[in-house]
Amino acid sequence: MKVSGDWLDNPATQSVMGMLTGAGYHALAVGGCVRNALLGVPVADVDIATDALPETVSRLAETAGLKAVPTGIAHGTVTVVAGGEGFEVTTFRHDEESFGRHARVSFGASLQQDAARRDFTMNALYAQADGTLIDPLGGLPDLQARRLRFVGDPQARITEDYLRILRFFRFHAQYGDPEQGLDAEALAACAEHSAMLETLSRERVTAELKKLLDAPDPAPAIAAMAQSGVLLPVLPGAQPQALPVLVHLEGDKPGGWLRRLAVLTTEVETLRLSKAETRDFGKVRDAFSGIDSPAALGWRLGWRLGCDALLGRAALLETPPAPGWQAEVMRGAQADFPLKPRDLMPMLLGPDLGRALARAQEHWLAQDLKPDRAQLLALLGLA
Ligand code: ATP
Ligand code: MG
Repeated sequence: MKVSGDWLDNPATQSVMGMLTGAGYHALAVGGCVRNALLGVPVADVDIATDALPETVSRLAETAGLKAVPTGIAHGTVTVVAGGEGFEVTTFRHDEESFGRHARVSFGASLQQDAARRDFTMNALYAQADGTLIDPLGGLPDLQARRLRFVGDPQARITEDYLRILRFFRFHAQYGDPEQGLDAEALAACAEHSAMLETLSRERVTAELKKLLDAPDPAPAIAAMAQSGVLLPVLPGAQPQALPVLVHLEGDKPGGWLRRLAVLTTEVETLRLSKAETRDFGKVRDAFSGIDSPAALGWRLGWRLGCDALLGRAALLETPPAPGWQAEVMRGAQADFPLKPRDLMPMLLGPDLGRALARAQEHWLAQDLKPDRAQLLALLGLA
């Protein structure tokens, strides 16, 4: 069986794999790129596994005129930059101390061990530069059945790295069969160790949660997390009920993680969001409690956040927005408030000016953005 796609045909991918195979090493695309290519969904980045040691990867890259950045030397990862793209090249690895990360073993043995340290069978699929698939753990039938299965014993794998609990729900949301439900034994192991999620870095948790919430329908995975006690340590105070309603209202236009997160919770202190993300999240949450029209939301928040606020509020109220709401949010997003501060000067100055502008603005929004400049000046007694 072969995999294919622009990501593999890409001369940059071929040059990175070729610099390794040309020197007699193995080079295999692995993980997300192979999995997604088999599923026919977009490939984000290409990871490469090799039996060459990190210092050899760096040396071969330099000889080939490519830049090599030691981004994760402790994990055996060198990022090779080709055609403006970064390729993470990771040396076959075995996670047992006794083995040592510098050990050079025969290819067959080390590929098997590299596969064994990965989290799920569908993430342990490899492809050669010509697309030939290598499936050391039977991940392909699992992928075809959209069955998320831990590599090895779920208990053992979870205690090695508790982030795998979240990854279990994340990959199920992205690639699992929603009809099938989650593997009972793995689910029980996730539930048993859920308290350990608090020990993980906020960055790692946030990255997984965003990917989960970006899935077309994250609601079943979030419901399973709530039921098994996995949601609580990640998002204390989360209320999962409105999420399926939101996903239903979104229809064939799935929203992003921020909108989904906003209907789940008010508290995001357990996450690591950027300043801009925290501000946007707050704006959307604040809009839920108001009674702004779709056009007013569009004006206050802009098109994207206006849609997030409108649909999120509708989900929490369990009432679909009125037909044509998109055009209304857009009308608001494109509208210009007709008064400028200088229109009120010098009659009003300082805090008085600010208060008058705010009053005129609220009137204009409540009146469907219709009053013009003269009407607003009259409202303020300045006509
Ligand atoms: P995405 O498209 O979301 O990036 P991905 O499969 O590439 O999906 P990554 O988090 O980028 O996911 O990880 C790349 C690969 O590394 C995975 O496919 C998996 O084989 C392995 N991996 C990553 N994190 C872990 C982990 N915590 N435990 C075991 N294996 C992991
Ligand atoms: Mg990836």
